[in-house]
Amino acid sequence: MAMYSISVTPLIASLQDPHVAQVWFADDATAGGTLWGLHDWWCKLKDLGFMYGYFPNAAKTSLIVKPERLDEAKQQFAGTGVSITVEGKRHLGAALGSRAFTEAYITEKVESWSRCVRRLVNIAKTHPHAALGGLGICDPKSHSDAEFDSSVKITSALVALIVQQELTFSIDTLEAQRSAKCEVVRMKHRAHDEVAATLCQSLPVGLQRIVALSSEKGASSWLSALPVEEHGFALHKGAFRDALCLRYGWLPSGLPTQCVCGQGFSVDHSMNCPTGGYPTLRHNELRDFTAAILSEVCTDVCVEPPLQSLSGETLTYATANREDGARLDVSAVGFWGGHHQRAFFDVKVFNPTASSYRATPVASLYRRFEKEKRRKYEQRIREVEMGSFTPLVFSTFGGISGCTSIFYKRLAYLLSLKREVPYSSAMSWLRCRISFSLLRSAIACLRGRVPTVVVPSAIGHLTLYYQRVGCLPPNYLNCSL
Ligand SMILES: [Zn+2]
Repeated sequence: MAMYSISVTPLIASLQDPHVAQVWFADDATAGGTLWGLHDWWCKLKDLGFMYGYFPNAAKTSLIVKPERLDEAKQQFAGTGVSITVEGKRHLGAALGSRAFTEAYITEKVESWSRCVRRLVNIAKTHPHAALGGLGICDPKSHSDAEFDSSVKITSALVALIVQQELTFSIDTLEAQRSAKCEVVRMKHRAHDEVAATLCQSLPVGLQRIVALSSEKGASSWLSALPVEEHGFALHKGAFRDALCLRYGWLPSGLPTQCVCGQGFSVDHSMNCPTGGYPTLRHNELRDFTAAILSEVCTDVCVEPPLQSLSGETLTYATANREDGARLDVSAVGFWGGHHQRAFFDVKVFNPTASSYRATPVASLYRRFEKEKRRKYEQRIREVEMGSFTPLVFSTFGGISGCTSIFYKRLAYLLSLKREVPYSSAMSWLRCRISFSLLRSAIACLRGRVPTVVVPSAIGHLTLYYQRVGCLPPNYLNCSL
């Protein structure tokens, strides 16, 4: 055996040879080149390897050669124990070898993917949210070319190093990879935006508005969150289908034709009708959720804090609230930074597809409701309570107003400090909670009110059910409504 002195030179450097090109991934070694060059490399690897604690296993090593070089290869590698093939082998998750081999390899991959999708489809029949929630399944046929180009772009700096058999990895390469990744992401977003804009233009006007509302920041959080039950992010199949219908303006199945209030039943009507108190529940859920989070990061959090009565103070706006015993939704001490200042918040949830709002851009609606709330309370709170006032305005689709966004950013910041989690995690968790809260309330508005249900003969009279989705009578959908 040849003797080599132990050095700190990396094994890959000790094996460098102008007739062989190496690729290593952790302890997975690969080389390409002339047959005799490869034979030398293999022998050297065995001789040197043990000094590094590296013991190449011939039984797990393959030599891929062109058919016309097979005999020569057998001769060259006789006695080494290395298996020789003219077909190909799997290499780091890809296929290396003949056309037939790579095609067979890819076919197997595609079939395995298709089997998974079919299995997912079967699960989705009974558990659509568990199967599809949090997944963006794209059509690989329409994306594969672009994905391949992106992969080539991102890896080109590394490929150049491998081709040159360069052993050092410089900061420039890292920078080149990082900027290639950013460029790929930018191009992807641009392509998505273009497709979305073209699609949107081809939609009917009503649907265009619904798509725009569903595209607002936060409005899709429920769809992209993993359906984790302990966070309240899991929907059963009926709720998931209703949620999709609401998002795309489709008509949910099994809706009654008439509401208990006597008017015709529609999705829009269900979002606004006060019968059963669902819009109030929707408002209260957001109020209570916000108060609960505030109590983690502020002191003296109150739900429905009473305001002091006026004693002759003058308020500018005619619409200002001057009532004795007026209450706001939530208050907390120390939210905006002042240790003793009380911050007051008032929640407003509106349905942007209601007939009275349909013609107004949603950005104007946010501004309008913020302004209305401010005129109603801000001066009184500033001058009488010596506190601050923030209106919290939500669309039923999950979008929020500018002020509300600033409020939740601050809340996420305080929460991230308190829970010692990154700001981005706190913010996306908050967005998900808001999104699910609004979604569940919307579904409750839709399904919670069941109009006159004919209870089967034993009772024989009309009964009103006001129940939330999930605890409806089992005969609900089959009843004659
Ligand atoms: Zn009604």
